[in-house]
Amino acid sequence: MKILPVNLNLVYKRNNSQRINEQNQQSYNVPSIKMPTQPLTDTISFKRAVSFLKSPFIHDPRELELHCACCGNLMLKNSVVQEFMDKKVYYPAHIALEKIKHEQNFRVKEQPGYMQKAYSFIKNEANKNKNLNMDELMQTERVSNYRRTNSKEQYQALGELRNKCRNISRSISYIVEEIEKLKPDFQNTEDTVFQELRRYAKIYPSENISNIFTKPGIRAHYMKKLQDKQNAKLNKVAQLIPQLSPQYAKRAKNAYKQSYDIFNYESSDIMHKRQRVIDLFARALEPMPFEQPSDRQIADLIMKKLETLPDSKNDANAFIVKYAPRGSNNFVEVLVKRLRNTKEHVKPQHRFGDNGESDKKNYIYLCGKCNHERMTQKYDDFIAKHPQMPENTQKQIDEICDYINQGKLADYDTWPNDIKSPLGEESEGLIIIDTKSLDLKKAKENRKIKLEEYIEQQKHFSEKQDTLMTGPYRRHGRKKA
Ligand SMILES: [Zn+2]
Repeated sequence: MKILPVNLNLVYKRNNSQRINEQNQQSYNVPSIKMPTQPLTDTISFKRAVSFLKSPFIHDPRELELHCACCGNLMLKNSVVQEFMDKKVYYPAHIALEKIKHEQNFRVKEQPGYMQKAYSFIKNEANKNKNLNMDELMQTERVSNYRRTNSKEQYQALGELRNKCRNISRSISYIVEEIEKLKPDFQNTEDTVFQELRRYAKIYPSENISNIFTKPGIRAHYMKKLQDKQNAKLNKVAQLIPQLSPQYAKRAKNAYKQSYDIFNYESSDIMHKRQRVIDLFARALEPMPFEQPSDRQIADLIMKKLETLPDSKNDANAFIVKYAPRGSNNFVEVLVKRLRNTKEHVKPQHRFGDNGESDKKNYIYLCGKCNHERMTQKYDDFIAKHPQMPENTQKQIDEICDYINQGKLADYDTWPNDIKSPLGEESEGLIIIDTKSLDLKKAKENRKIKLEEYIEQQKHFSEKQDTLMTGPYRRHGRKKA
């Protein structure tokens, strides 16, 4: 067996999930403690070295239990969401490749030769890696090599098979049960969607989400509820129209009629209705100058009303109507990813002429939903819609300070103070945080304790492995590691 010396200093650095070359990283990434004079054994095997590389510290706040700095809801760790998608939502590839035969009418023998070849290759790989789903399988070295070195046809055929497998979905009752295990802290819209899933899981437990919510009767029910809301908003707009000068009133009336038709007579399969309606009114009311100053005010009021038209972010019916036809897995992915802990660029990444850095000094942590909603808005505008944000940002700072003090989070000692001024600038002084709960002395002590415990554990693990290797494991002639 290959024996490699392990350098403990190297272990910390390699563990660091952040880029090593970040400036000033050295000054705070490694707890400043002395290494034990005799660290473990002098050398450990390569396999054990790999297990040793796991760190006792967390290096990424997306792997902490945190509350969203905007809505304040408890977010799901990134790895939890990934694992949920990989292991709960998507079937292992060897099962999905069987299921596409029945559920997607994929008859292998009737396929062209290149497809049969691709299928037999990937099926074989899937059988060798029974715990991997199709996406994971595609990332293995053997499969990516195969895709790189074979014909374009093979490349495309595997892509096609992957897409077919991605559409194979579990039953609604299984999915509901698994989502419940995540103890999701949903916002209102998502919670309403989830309650609907629970309700239908009792009625059609073994069907999948997409099949249930695209049944004509059920889809019509949600469409009707959505239309009622849309029409109610349009009625509010209609009441404002007579207050415009006649020429604008005429244009707006026209836009109203077209909008009514879009919402009530177009097929439910046609998308982007809401945006088209907003655009219709924007065009009707845009030509300047208005005859009377009041025209501008009424036009603004109308546009504001239209912004409150239901969409899949703020209305459960719209969510169900939009995502059910896109397949169960996509439906679940959108729902669960809204709970995910994501990096939020305080100074946005893509704001024209004013790009924020991709660096932890520019990050706070928002749930997927709030992050998506913020886009590149200035925080002062965003806070107008989310007045609870300054308070919830402070709560998140306190949570992270606490993780640092407990010695759980490494590499973030300077973060609480680094993030102060970006937050202040971006919010025009609306988010002023205090970091007095940060206690770096305590953090260092706690990290030292954690590290010592960890080294003890590894030592213990090492010794146990040695016993295994020289003990009954070998005597009984079982396969060597
Ligand atoms: Zn949020």
